[in-house]
Amino acid sequence: GKGAAMVTAVAYRLAAQNAERQRILDTMCLSREQLLEVKRRMSEEMVRGLSKQTHEQASVKMLPAYVRSTPDGTEHGDFLALDLGGSSFRVLLVQVQSGQRHKAKMQQKIYSIPQETMQGTGEELFDHIVDCIAAFLEYMGMKGASLPLGFTFSFPCHQSRLDQGILLKWTKGFKASGCEGHDVILLLKDAVRRRQEFDLNFVAVVNDTVGTMMTCGYEDPKCEVGLIVGTGTNACYMEEMSNIELVEGNEGRMSINMEWGAFGDNGELDDFCTRFDHIVDDSSNNPGKQRYEKMISGMYLGEIVRNVLIDFTSKGLLFRGKLSERLKTWGIFATKFLSQIESDRLAMRQIRSILQHLGLTSSTIDDSVLVKEVCSVVARRAAQLCGAGLAAVVDRMRENRNLNQFSVTVGVDGTLYKTHPHFSSIMQETLQDLAPQCQVTFQKSEDGSGKGAALITAVACRIKSEGQH
Ligand code: BGC
Ligand code: MG
Repeated sequence: GKGAAMVTAVAYRLAAQNAERQRILDTMCLSREQLLEVKRRMSEEMVRGLSKQTHEQASVKMLPAYVRSTPDGTEHGDFLALDLGGSSFRVLLVQVQSGQRHKAKMQQKIYSIPQETMQGTGEELFDHIVDCIAAFLEYMGMKGASLPLGFTFSFPCHQSRLDQGILLKWTKGFKASGCEGHDVILLLKDAVRRRQEFDLNFVAVVNDTVGTMMTCGYEDPKCEVGLIVGTGTNACYMEEMSNIELVEGNEGRMSINMEWGAFGDNGELDDFCTRFDHIVDDSSNNPGKQRYEKMISGMYLGEIVRNVLIDFTSKGLLFRGKLSERLKTWGIFATKFLSQIESDRLAMRQIRSILQHLGLTSSTIDDSVLVKEVCSVVARRAAQLCGAGLAAVVDRMRENRNLNQFSVTVGVDGTLYKTHPHFSSIMQETLQDLAPQCQVTFQKSEDGSGKGAALITAVACRIKSEGQH
């Protein structure tokens, strides 16, 4: 009768809604073949970035980072380190003692960089940085001490020596004017000069990946790769000098700051991107740039999730079809929430309370299930893409060394990697599957970007003083 027809209609509508949800989620699932293709294209871009002829056009810049030797344990002294480009700005004093590998002592202070300063003029930004250094020296009672300084500056920089870093382009939330194309050491020196209060002895510009690799390498000599999955993402590794066409010499190896976040900027990821990736890219600070980073790192994953949820809601598949102002707000899903929502210990009820906390109050238990699924699909894809990129890196290192089997340690840092409950295991699974001839160990770094800059500075100072004897 009529009742049965209605039940059938409801069942039909539910089935159709389910199918629609699944269809949308499927656009964000990558097959093994697709991941292998990502690995293959990454390898190709690495070659293009290293070669003089194709370097200009290559999306993955493969920047020589002028770090060649790891600490030998004889380094010692006090060093200043600056760390700009992650979730906070820090000034550190690192005391390195020879023969005491595990005992570098560190003192640090964290300073905030207001949004207006990140996006104001370069002078304002660097004046602010120098203010923070002054406050730190004052606090430590060290004004007037001109210690060797390493600057962890986590943006793509062209270097032709260790103590130089020409900013190629800002990434993440930064866009201070008048900096791109300039040497950040000179910008900092100018700001120190404007203040006329103290001198600094600049020794090194360091990418956070390289700092992380060095910090882990201080304890594990097999650590020859650095990986960051935080606000942004990037990797570095030791490449044969003979393959680095941008630097003279063929002996030994040098660290390469890959700047792999820009992979995809020449369209290499277009066939894997979804509508949601395009929306996130279009509404970012740097449309068309850092496409791989925008599918992987903490600054963007929450935005992908939010845009999927908006789509589901406007199709009536979520939140009873009601688009709240909150859901329309940029940036409400911080990494922290993604990690919490996917935590295995959470009951659906708790997810619901997280959503309520985010201001998404109309949520039901069904909504919670769906939100969790969206988070999980987006994070899985990120981890798999990251694993595919890493597979290209370690397989290249293996081939460079003519090995059938290769074992290597990767030093890792970054809040997404460290706090997400599944990211690291999915990434490792993917890596093992796509690079089966490599045995890869992951070593979480304790404060790689701060300590690493100090260690690199320490090594540079040791080599310089050896040269003088
Ligand atoms: C930057 C890299 C950095 C990475 C992780 C990216 O946006 O371009 O230089 O290593 O973020 O902090
Ligand atoms: Mg950092």
